[in-house]
Amino acid sequence: MTKKFNIENLARDSVKILKPYSSARDEYVSDGSEMIFLDTNENPFENGVNRYPDPYQRSLKSLLSEQKGISETNMLLGNGSDEVLDLIFRAFCEPNQDNIITLPPTYGMYKVLAGINAVGNREVLLTTDFEPNVPKILESVDERTKLIFICSPNNPTGNSFNKENIIELLESFNGLVVVDEAYIDFSNQESWLSSLKDYPNLIVTQTLSKAYGLAGIRLGICYASEEIIAILNKIKPPYNVNQLTQQKAVQRVNNQDAVQQEIMQILTERDVLMKALRTLDYVEKVYPSDANFILGKVDDADKRYQQLLEKQVVVRNRSSQPLCENTLRFTVGTPEENKLLIAILKELN
Ligand SMILES: *Cc1c(COP(=O)(O)O)cnc(C)c1O
Repeated sequence: MTKKFNIENLARDSVKILKPYSSARDEYVSDGSEMIFLDTNENPFENGVNRYPDPYQRSLKSLLSEQKGISETNMLLGNGSDEVLDLIFRAFCEPNQDNIITLPPTYGMYKVLAGINAVGNREVLLTTDFEPNVPKILESVDERTKLIFICSPNNPTGNSFNKENIIELLESFNGLVVVDEAYIDFSNQESWLSSLKDYPNLIVTQTLSKAYGLAGIRLGICYASEEIIAILNKIKPPYNVNQLTQQKAVQRVNNQDAVQQEIMQILTERDVLMKALRTLDYVEKVYPSDANFILGKVDDADKRYQQLLEKQVVVRNRSSQPLCENTLRFTVGTPEENKLLIAILKELN
């Protein structure tokens, strides 16, 4: 395949010609001086959230920019990664014409978003050791393939993919490679953020839903070239990240000590849980994990799942996923929860 990546060619025609909605806060950007704002039809009586939020989330982006060493112009924030991923589909995939490639067993949302956006989903199974099958992926690419979704560390298998495999895809594929790093903070692998400068076709997504403990506020992050970010900014709803979310995210991102301390505890607990799972005779395999969950292969996943439910423990049965027959996915809980889980697991027969 000859390399001729061109971001302008990749965007949908309707997006190329789109004139984005111009919000009041686009037309008058406040410099912080005392103004009387009578331009947006808001209710003027202050209650903390009576004003529209910053459409570009400048405070939060400036913090993230400082911490990650990435310019704010290389960032787009959304209502969870789910919105960010949907924006990527809507910017680059022509419905009923284009296709994407996903690598099951993986995060289910890529397939659902492909369905919602009427975009073909070409599935190329991971190898039996849960690595991307690069030759098969490249064989599946045609001139209408716009995106390849790489989840690393992968959900539900828990492993990070070999760097060489991802590099080969980045270098051989003329579309966009989306690396979903929802679990990167639990991994000892380096983030792909440091490679953004080297690959104009790389998109990295992260989230505050996992390591940062903020699943409830919905905050997803997309890092990519300025050109890609400009296209996504054109189509995003103007006020897609609400005021309460922006405030809470700023507080939490500022409180790195607490975040890092929780991550360390989760990693310690992951080891404890991993060791315990390996001692159980009905557990046939415990897969290595670079995330805050562990995938285990058991003798009979349906039966073990039900037994745990009866003990008030809810895990995820992943058996319906290819290569994941009879597997359960255990999220790492608090030390107390894990202790209880281990005690219950030891009692099962
Ligand atoms: C949990 C998870 C997300 C998080 O999505 P949000 O919408 O940000 O909560 C993204 N990708 C993967 C692979 C996940 O497992």
